[in-house]
Order: sequence, then structure tokens, then C-alpha cells
Amino acid sequence: MSDCIFCKIAAKQIPTQVVYEDTDVLAFKDINPKAPTHLLVIPKKHIEKLSDLQPADAELGGKMLLAVGKIAEHIGIKDAGFRVVINNGKFAGQEVFHLHFHVLGGKQMSWNPA
Ligand code: 5GP
Ligand code: ZN
Repeated sequence: MSDCIFCKIAAKQIPTQVVYEDTDVLAFKDINPKAPTHLLVIPKKHIEKLSDLQPADAELGGKMLLAVGKIAEHIGIKDAGFRVVINNGKFAGQEVFHLHFHVLGGKQMSWNPA
């Protein structure tokens, strides 16, 4: 998608602080962090949102989930714990329509998601 900001980040057309990359998945620092650690994990392939994932994307979805654990270990937030958030569509407040996992950590969090 030519007008998608995260596709541009995946294509390295926009400078970004990349923290993890493999053939299918990229993780980078959120530009407006909501916690001491705030990363976004995206598929390099353009998928608008979680609910658009297809059976053919099952391996990709699994790779994204596995990447979260690898990243958490690599950046040292695994043992303390962290949160993974996916905003899906308008009511969830999704602003960028390219699937992304928010990975939030580095502090004790409360729970008031809605
Ligand atoms: P959403 O509300 O769609 O779940 O979250 C979108 C996230 O993308 C927000 O946390 C926002 O700060 C982040 N974001 C938006 N544009 C950019 C950008 O150009 N670079 C980076 N690194 N993060 C972005
Ligand atoms: Zn995209």
C-alpha cells in the first residue's frame, strides 16, 4: 500500500528505530511512547487489522507472536513482564490501518482497558 506509513517503515523509506527484523516481521519504537518501553511489531506484508488475517496468514501470525517473546528477552523486559495490545478497528481507536502489536513495558501497569 503506497500511502501506508507502516509499509513505508517496513520498506525503510522512513527512518525508524528498528529493534528486531526477520524476513516477515519488523519491530520498532513507537514515535509517541505510552510507557518507558513501547514497541510496535508489524508484518512486513500489508494487512489492515487483526480481523483481516486469513488462514493463509497463520504462519505469519505465529511468527509475529514468537517475535514478541524474542524481542522481550533481547531488550530485557521478559522477566518483569509486559503488555501486548492490538487495537482492531474504529471502536478500539486504531489509527494506523496496518496490523501492529503494541508491546508496552518498563513499569508497573494498571488495568483499565476500556
Ligand atoms: P493504533 O492507535 O493504530 O493502535 O496505534 C498506532 C501507533 O502508531 C501509535 O501508538 C502511534 O504513536 C504510532 N505511530 C504512528 N505513526 C508513527 C510513525 O511514523 N512512526 C512510529 N515509530 N510510530 C508511529
Ligand atoms: Zn501497510
